[in-house]
Amino acid sequence: MLSIGAIQGQSKRFVEKQKSIAKDMVEKRHKSTQVMVDKVFSFAELGFHEVESSSYLTSILEEAGFEIMYGISNIPTAWFAKWSNGKGPTIALGSDVDCIPKASQYPGVAYHKPIVEGAPGHGEGHNSGLPLNITAALVVKELMEKNNLGGTLVLWPGIAEELVASKAWFVRDGYFDDIDMCIFTHVSSNLDVSWGQSRGTGLISVEYSFEGESAHSAGSPWRGRSALDAAELMNIGWNYKREHLHPLKRSHSIFTKSGDQPNVVPSEASIWFYLRDVNYDGIMDMYEDANNIAEAAAKMTDTKMTSRIVGTAWPRHFNKVIAETMFENIKNVGLPQWSEEDQQLAKAVQLEVNSKNNDGLATTLSPLGAPAKTPISGGSDDIGDISWKVPTVTLRFPSNIPGLQGHHWSNAIAMATPIAHKGATAGAKVVAMTVLDFLYKPVLVDQAKDYFLNVQSKEETYRPMISESDPPPVELNTQIMREFKPKLSPFYFDETKYDTYLEQLGITYPTVKKD
Ligand SMILES: [Zn+2]
Repeated sequence: MLSIGAIQGQSKRFVEKQKSIAKDMVEKRHKSTQVMVDKVFSFAELGFHEVESSSYLTSILEEAGFEIMYGISNIPTAWFAKWSNGKGPTIALGSDVDCIPKASQYPGVAYHKPIVEGAPGHGEGHNSGLPLNITAALVVKELMEKNNLGGTLVLWPGIAEELVASKAWFVRDGYFDDIDMCIFTHVSSNLDVSWGQSRGTGLISVEYSFEGESAHSAGSPWRGRSALDAAELMNIGWNYKREHLHPLKRSHSIFTKSGDQPNVVPSEASIWFYLRDVNYDGIMDMYEDANNIAEAAAKMTDTKMTSRIVGTAWPRHFNKVIAETMFENIKNVGLPQWSEEDQQLAKAVQLEVNSKNNDGLATTLSPLGAPAKTPISGGSDDIGDISWKVPTVTLRFPSNIPGLQGHHWSNAIAMATPIAHKGATAGAKVVAMTVLDFLYKPVLVDQAKDYFLNVQSKEETYRPMISESDPPPVELNTQIMREFKPKLSPFYFDETKYDTYLEQLGITYPTVKKD
């Protein structure tokens, strides 16, 4: 008779064997991963306008037998794709898909060269995560069918992540109610994962609008009440406030409406703020201060103020059990083998943007990320809301060049080159292997939930920043996409005619400055 230890040992060997098969299957799908990465890169769609990207990616999932819900949370480009093989854990795989304004850029070219001048582009690298997840999911699905392994896979897109304007809505509307855990993937320049409070902030995104009265600016200015004066005074008020903000807080604003022409007193003006801090209470304190300053600005100008929440993101907290399990697979997979051309491109781009990092692409793995002793400020991601709803981690995968400034054309250069393709394949291996770990060992799911309930949730309780009725701001970016979509569409990647997007664009890889 076999001892318990021997049975577990045998089953561990079987699981490891299946994971190694999955790794090989992902490698065999490298070509289809490349096509998906290139294709989404070429669509270059801003938040809430991921029309081509969503229709292309869901068509692949639909063909593979996933059931798709379209237009979830009243967001036309949002979707939930589900495939079940019976009883077992429900694991969600998510990643963002939108791009960055004015980041249009030829891939593989180590200096600024827009495909379409002024157009949006993948200057954040969100074209790579869903292709990675799809490759991983299709491999796991095949193995689940072959081995009669129970469980459910859910794939979902982070719509309008750059506006942090979809994930809190998905949580509010119940799409994560029946999910056991979530693996999120995000482009980076190494292959890593962390647990605990992530570095960076959460935020509330609020637009303040002022309404005054127009008048002839020269003929009868005393009859006008300027909404622009109110918006400017609010900005000035906030800039005085800024001196007294804790250094972990971050805030920034743009004017979204400022009048039509100088000889008409502006009757409408709006200013849009991102208010960030490392914890929920800090974010809400800033929100209250901003509301007070907005009201005061309205009083000073005898105008009327209204505000609306445009986006929210909770500070992120990642699951220890999922991160530790995933990290074993990261060590197994390792970083991609970079070619001389990959390194040449990376170093040329680092030089071009005066990066302090001039070592090219990463060649050693980062350690498992543990919580920092004191919080570290920085960017936000609305995956935070999901990380407070279900046990979640973010796998960061090496599809981009280290040391770039972010949200910039330089961050698009690698994103349809072998660097992005290899990084996505490495990430897909880790995701597929980690999903198999949790499907084969549901006790790990229980442990992840135990951490979520008894460690993470002891620290903080999730309170949504949006109300039951706040609508997602789906009208944003409409004008920009109306202008640029017709100019970008001739450049969409045609995989039936070309092997790669670089080939279609006629780019020698890499293209770097002569000296
Ligand atoms: Zn991002």
